[in-house]
Amino acid sequence: MEPGRVRIRRSVAALPPYRAGRPAPLGPDGRSFKLSSNENPYEPLPGVLEAVQASCAQMNRYPDASNAAISERLAEALSGSGVDVQPDDLVFGTGSVTVLATVLHAACEAGDEVVYAWRSFEAYPLAVQLAEATPVPVPLAADGSHDLAAMRAAVTERTRVVMLCTPNNPTGPAIPHDELVAFVDSLPADVLVLVDEAYVEFVDDPAATRGLEVWRSRPNVVVLRTFSKAYGLAGFRVGYAVAHDDVSAALRSCTLPFSVSVPAQAAVIASLDAHDALMERVAALRDERALLASGLRDLGFSVPQAQGNFVWLPAVERTQAYADAFAARGLMVRAYVAGDAQDGVRITVGEAEANRLALEVASGLEH
Ligand SMILES: *Cc1c(COP(=O)(O)O)cnc(C)c1O
Repeated sequence: MEPGRVRIRRSVAALPPYRAGRPAPLGPDGRSFKLSSNENPYEPLPGVLEAVQASCAQMNRYPDASNAAISERLAEALSGSGVDVQPDDLVFGTGSVTVLATVLHAACEAGDEVVYAWRSFEAYPLAVQLAEATPVPVPLAADGSHDLAAMRAAVTERTRVVMLCTPNNPTGPAIPHDELVAFVDSLPADVLVLVDEAYVEFVDDPAATRGLEVWRSRPNVVVLRTFSKAYGLAGFRVGYAVAHDDVSAALRSCTLPFSVSVPAQAAVIASLDAHDALMERVAALRDERALLASGLRDLGFSVPQAQGNFVWLPAVERTQAYADAFAARGLMVRAYVAGDAQDGVRITVGEAEANRLALEVASGLEH
């Protein structure tokens, strides 16, 4: 062994280095819009800033490690949608990406397989590898939707978890409810199905998956949700799993204590109190999404069904050129460059002005 070098776990040393996102470039008029991280463009919901500020007076105290108040309040809010959710069914973490990693840690032995669609959320392959599991990415269908038949065929006796992202980030389509249910029912009962509903509030397709309903009636389903997107709390890092007893107990066992901070817990309660204002904003963003998607389709782009707060612009070999064209006008979008036919650009639905500008830029793109 070389002297003076510490040893890093082999699977960790083999991971690609972390690359930080770039700040939004300035447009010609000195303005810029960050449309690259599916963030919410709005100011805090009414009452949230005040609740957070008040909570800061307790910064010398640890937060409630059991997340009792937010569990109680959220269970009540979720049950309002008609599916019975109890406080104990909820396991919180610092963003749902952390909860996702915990699910994989809890479920996978080294070498177990995790099946997921690709392209999808970029954290998936990383989280699978951190859990020492083997990623099994299954290509999306041509329209950017999950190819559930191909995913079913990819399941082997080594498969421990299947992750489904609905609506899919970055391409946009939601998995139809009936198809997802049939898929779950076709799997061995000991395969955990993780339904990632990070964008569920933005869904308006009545046929789309209703994750909580599937969870309620299927013991091997876990639903993941977040306060980062519709609720606009990305900076506070709060996400959660809705899980049955065996899974929630395992998640609690491998969650480090005190993960959700005092101000984050205050923000969650105040955000749930601001339900009506939240729904107004979600409706406004859906309207903006419809304008952006139909505008791009009118320009001749084949934009897939957009059910999140973003639209997907297929661009193949022009992906980087498109991203540069947006950047030149002060719009930071997300370019996905893998060098294949699925490459494209994801545009987050932002302020009305940003969306107009995005359409203007798109009207000048070659395709
Ligand atoms: C943004 C996102 C998440 C959640 O992120 P957190 O901020 O960690 O809660 C989870 N899944 C998908 C698909 C996402 O796009």
